Amino acid sequence: MTLVEGEYEFTCDECDGDGSVQVIQPPDDEDGGEATLGWGRCDDCFGDGRLLVNEVEAAEKIRWGQTPTRTPAAG
Ligand SMILES: [Zn+2]
Repeated sequence: MTLVEGEYEFTCDECDGDGSVQVIQPPDDEDGGEATLGWGRCDDCFGDGRLLVNEVEAAEKIRWGQTPTRTPAAG
């Protein structure tokens, strides 16, 4: 399958489009305490919730079952 050349937009599958992911935060106290769960910026999409890729990467993602939320205008 050949895709039209251009930028394809996908929802980031790492954070589900949220732009943030749950991360384990080490305890503030060096002497102990418990690690807590917090929210951090998603590294995959830099907090955007969206990924822009070229047609080659888009073809790969589509092959893995993802659907682009935006495609280059055809024709
Ligand atoms: Zn993300």
